Amino acid sequence: MRNYNPSNFPKGRIKIALLIILALSVYGCATAPISVSPEEAVLKDLCQRYDVQWEWDSVSQVVTLTRQGLKAKAMAGSDLIVMGDEKIKLSAPLKMDRGTILVPPDFKHKVIDRLTQKFDYTLKKFRAVVIDPGHGGQDPGAIGRDGLKEKEVVLDIAKRLKQELEGKGIKVIMTRDGDTFLSLEERPRIAARSGADLFISIHANASRARSASGFEVYYLKGADEVSPYDVEMNKNYKMAFNHFSMQKNDSALEGIVSSMMAAYKQAESSRLAEYITRNTADAINSKNRGSKSARYVVLRNTVIPAVLVEVGFLSNRQEGDLLKSSSYRQKIADSLAEGFVGYASR
Ligand SMILES: [Zn+2]
Repeated sequence: MRNYNPSNFPKGRIKIALLIILALSVYGCATAPISVSPEEAVLKDLCQRYDVQWEWDSVSQVVTLTRQGLKAKAMAGSDLIVMGDEKIKLSAPLKMDRGTILVPPDFKHKVIDRLTQKFDYTLKKFRAVVIDPGHGGQDPGAIGRDGLKEKEVVLDIAKRLKQELEGKGIKVIMTRDGDTFLSLEERPRIAARSGADLFISIHANASRARSASGFEVYYLKGADEVSPYDVEMNKNYKMAFNHFSMQKNDSALEGIVSSMMAAYKQAESSRLAEYITRNTADAINSKNRGSKSARYVVLRNTVIPAVLVEVGFLSNRQEGDLLKSSSYRQKIADSLAEGFVGYASR
């Protein structure tokens, strides 16, 4: 249970869980063998049949299923399965009956089949993307040599990217689609509420060094366990949980899910950043400044894989002029969209 965060697990629950286990072991042998209804299957049998390894943690009541490196976690009494970044809802919760775990009929299709078809799973297309044009309203962002405002450039590129992605059948949620001010906290909140799979924040650079130019992508590095003291991030996780109707106040389950989401997010963010950097810098013939790690608020508080793109330097004469032209902005949007699709269909 490496990803498990014990601080989210109240001590009282451990005691109750131990009492239940004790009670089960005392009374378990005195009663008749369990009867499995036609609507249920014994988890152990299913796993044996389909060659899935399973491990039961009696204290946390969590069962971990593993096959070829793919993992799924489930909890007794819950109808939620966590697999990678996916939350799968079952028709009924997992039941514990005298040491035997019983699963509902859709468990085979929704969980076992997914675990045994590794490639279908990793080729999964994303459903929705949040595009976050930086700044807006009273915050103009960087200002170019002749007054060109970052907030306007990035909104235009964001709108073009939206169109590109929608053309490829991907749902897009914009944090802003007009000249409105949004706090840095509000942006990840929109992402968490939306149920989207990816978050991209679009910015343009400026530097006192007028010669500075190029395209760069930031992703979050060192996204660790979710600290219970990190109020804003926890709020966003809670919002994300609401999307898959997790049992309210199930802090143990929330702890497991948020740890898994954090690990997934970190790995995927750097992969997405690589795809976008490689693809876009080439396509727009811009200096590739690479993908870098950062701890920006919009990246840090986002619970889904997130990257921040700096499309170029408004302060640079050549790039500033290019960023004024709609054909260059379109080129950026096109190649960002291609980067997304390349990442998603890897
Ligand atoms: Zn900016």
